[in-house]
Amino acid sequence: MPLTRKRILITGGAGFLGSHLCERLLAEGNDILCVDNYFTGRKDNIAHLLGNKNFEALRHDVTFPLYVEVDEIYNLACPASPVHYQFDPVQTTKTSVIGAINMLGLAKRIGAKILQSSTSEVYGDPTVHPQPEDYRGNVNPFGPRACYDEGKRCAETLFFDYRRQHKTRIKIARIFNTYGPRMHPNDGRVVSNFIVQALRNKDIALYGDGSQTRAFCYVDDLVDGLIRLMATGDDVTGPVNIGNPHEIPVRALAERIVALTHSASRLVHRPLPQDDPMQRCPDITLARTMLGWEPAVALDDGLRRTIAYFDDLLRAA
Ligand code: NAD
Ligand code: UDP
Repeated sequence: MPLTRKRILITGGAGFLGSHLCERLLAEGNDILCVDNYFTGRKDNIAHLLGNKNFEALRHDVTFPLYVEVDEIYNLACPASPVHYQFDPVQTTKTSVIGAINMLGLAKRIGAKILQSSTSEVYGDPTVHPQPEDYRGNVNPFGPRACYDEGKRCAETLFFDYRRQHKTRIKIARIFNTYGPRMHPNDGRVVSNFIVQALRNKDIALYGDGSQTRAFCYVDDLVDGLIRLMATGDDVTGPVNIGNPHEIPVRALAERIVALTHSASRLVHRPLPQDDPMQRCPDITLARTMLGWEPAVALDDGLRRTIAYFDDLLRAA
């Protein structure tokens, strides 16, 4: 075994981001344990990795303790799409909070480094723009998004308390909207919804007037940011924003997707969901200076790759 081979646990490893992370860390020669309860993840996402002797998949729910020996833990388990995390909100909070306690307990016992996939949702509907890490956010604690937002905020609290109390080696990445191949076609997030609607020449549903903004990061860039953060010394904890600062209105995203797919779809309006943030864009100064990281994939390039993925998927269906 090469001395550099690490044993890495990835919770939520069969999900969209997790499967890309598994693939990349496996390709770098590591030993990967992918843990998932397949709530929103799919075996198809990791099927191509199963033949590799350094890859192992385990069906497990992180709200229950796990006893394994690894060097690093990436804690990604948690539904990320509003439709999915609101489906069973109590389970969403349990996944973030009890899942964090279980994974931190594991990291503490075995002395592993642990990285938490936190989110831009900790900033809620932000009143500071773009959002730097020291902005404390504007979250409704009992609205329909709270199970996710507050669960993730509590997980950050737990990570820092484990560090203060037990010297656990923690890293927190605040991930902003990320897209790419292997998003679930029905997961309800804006990029996958718009691409599927455009490829089927169906109406594209803009929630509200489409003037709300987001900034979209291609999955390869995101994975690169997470790996760089994990590689930092124990003095670096984050939270660090990882996202693409190219901000656009949701309507402009729809127009780009219609143009790139040569679709006949029309843009139509649907009610804006409660507490939907009106603007979101990461300040990535910290990631640039501390990690030497910034996104490299332009929106049109990332959208073309994602469209090609969904085109194949829909043809095969
Ligand atoms: P996803 O839904 O595709 O992946 C989540 C994975 O976690 C799925 O495979 C799911 O089956 C698994 N999971 C859910 N509950 C579990 C449980 N109790 N035990 C074990 N596994 C469980 O979503 P994603 O986009 O890949 O997101 C991954 C992580 O990144 C999440 O923690 C999410 O909050 C965070 N994040 C993602 C984005 C984004 O834009 N994709 C943005 C911010 C934060
Ligand atoms: N949205 C939309 N149509 C859709 C799905 C989402 O207009 O079919 C909007 C949604 O209201 C939000 C933005 O797109 O303003 C991003 O939504 P998503 O669910 O992808 O992620 P969020 O950033 O809200 O967590």
